[in-house]
Amino acid sequence: MFSLGGFSRGGEYENKTWDVLIIGAGPAGFTAAIYAARYGLETLIISKDLGGNMALTDLIENYPGFPEGISGSELARRMHEQVKKLGVDVVFDEVERIDPAECAYYEGPCKFTVKTKNGREYKGRTIIIAVGAAPRKLNVPGEEEFTGRGVSYCATCDGPLFKGKKVVVVGGGNTALQEALYLKSIGVDVTLIHRRDTFRADKVLQDRFKESGIPAIFNTVVTEIKGTSKVEAVKLKNLVTGEEWEMKVDGVFIFVGYEPKTDFVKHLGITDDYGYIPVDMHMRTKIPGIFAAGDITNVFKQIAVAIGQGAIAANSAKELLDEWNSKVAE
Ligand code: NAP
Repeated sequence: MFSLGGFSRGGEYENKTWDVLIIGAGPAGFTAAIYAARYGLETLIISKDLGGNMALTDLIENYPGFPEGISGSELARRMHEQVKKLGVDVVFDEVERIDPAECAYYEGPCKFTVKTKNGREYKGRTIIIAVGAAPRKLNVPGEEEFTGRGVSYCATCDGPLFKGKKVVVVGGGNTALQEALYLKSIGVDVTLIHRRDTFRADKVLQDRFKESGIPAIFNTVVTEIKGTSKVEAVKLKNLVTGEEWEMKVDGVFIFVGYEPKTDFVKHLGITDDYGYIPVDMHMRTKIPGIFAAGDITNVFKQIAVAIGQGAIAANSAKELLDEWNSKVAE
């Protein structure tokens, strides 16, 4: 089990203005902290937990440098160690609101105020939002129990374990169809389960899905995931006829959307219709001084991508701070 040890809990961190305030301690946030600290920037992380989704992943086999794979919690622990070694602390708290900068954008040093659930306020000249997006759950019996033992939310991570085995993919959006196609391409026996009779996915993906010959069961939901030590079957229910039956499977891949948790910045107008935060190639949001990195930017949700974006966000924050500093010096 992943330990939450090593957290700092606020207080002394409120009386200064940080160069970079990072929200979220997943791979994007940790990497941003490593780069910012090495640039000599005063950096603080505020996070609910350590590691984000990464820490919940049983075995990560696609992160370079670990040919045998590494558990998500161990990778998170190592990233946290690296950040601590560079003098960056993590404050254990949940951000409730970011207030806009007390400055004229692009004209001088900015100061944002970050307010948290514990009633604390932190000041930052730049902000990097790296809060991730949690995969939505089905909330059916067996789902939690068998997560990591047949239930997965990541085909790229866990698909290869199911080569030659039978799985169901749940969902009818872009992710479900794309991941079903990927699983089939690596030799997994896939059946798709969707609760309606039409897909939400883009037409191009629907066409590719049709061509693939992957069987789809429509108007049907998973009502239970069954097994002993690992997944052995799913219980299905047709929502039109009411018919219920069991299907023997080795795995259940759930792609029913993600839940980006960005209510704390909704008033700033930097989120899209789904709650994600769009960024440009420098990880800049619509507001100068606020950057975003990782899953919250609605990118390919992988650690390798999140760390790259975290590095870019820290570099962009440094460039902006340099620009502001040079204006102050003029
Ligand atoms: P999504 O578009 O929200 O689709 C979620 C799917 O899951 C829908 O088919 C929905 O059914 C179903 N669903 C939701 N809750 C369910 C439940 N409790 N039980 C059963 N089914 C449930 O999510 P997404 O596919 O993850 O995509 C998220 C965003 O990323 C979208 O903007 C998407 O376009 C984008 N994306 C794009 C690409 C691409 O361009 N290649 C790839 C991946 C994702 P209903 O249709 O009935 O609501």
